[in-house]
Amino acid sequence: MERVKEGGNHMRLVPGVHQVEGVEANVYILEFPDHLTLVDTGLPSNAGRILSCIDGLGRKPSDIRNIVLTHCHVDHTGNVRALKRSTGARLLVHEKDAPFVAGREELPLPKGLDEATQKAMSSFQTEYTEPDVLLREGDAIDGLEVIHLPGHTPGSISLYSEERGILFAGDAIRFLDGRLQGPPEPFTPDMDLAIRSLRKLTGLEYDVLLSGHGTPLMPGASERVRVFCQALFQSGDNA
Ligand SMILES: [Zn+2]
Ligand SMILES: [Zn+2]
Repeated sequence: MERVKEGGNHMRLVPGVHQVEGVEANVYILEFPDHLTLVDTGLPSNAGRILSCIDGLGRKPSDIRNIVLTHCHVDHTGNVRALKRSTGARLLVHEKDAPFVAGREELPLPKGLDEATQKAMSSFQTEYTEPDVLLREGDAIDGLEVIHLPGHTPGSISLYSEERGILFAGDAIRFLDGRLQGPPEPFTPDMDLAIRSLRKLTGLEYDVLLSGHGTPLMPGASERVRVFCQALFQSGDNA
């Protein structure tokens, strides 16, 4: 397992892929010779951390060409507006989540949350932003294939590189607290659909799972995801 702590607030997970430290949810940076691509942006007020991480890589904010969101939740979209302003990057979102990112539609309220959590959540002011590129199943960005996994949100995606052996999973499946988990139930309006969507992942081969929360799962990630999903499907069949 390769996780190299480097100077500044970033960690190299595998060659060419870094994670910004100290930001929740996870923010990943893909490094290319002529540009950078961000996967998700974390909760609001973290743009400075992300930019100082870019600086620590010896790169400039204007090197960020693409900001790809795995979905429209505020812990992933929080710094999009600030980053777009300071970098000129384009924003790429699945077409089904674009109305929520742009603020044209509202997401359903989370289920069964206590008052304190509701209050904490509403304190995060979302700055709505119009996406520049609408993504669909099968699209490719920087060698990453878009896999549409609706359920957690209508336009949740994972990004898959067979060549690099990486799956950026967003919240569709998470390696959190040392175990694989599906999406968080209170924030997943259609849990059945979210679980059915995971069938798309079972045929893929990758060594490294990078999810929206928690820590990297490697090596052998795809086999562990397969075993987890099969158990999930079976318990659904028996229910
Ligand atoms: Zn989410
Ligand atoms: Zn999340």
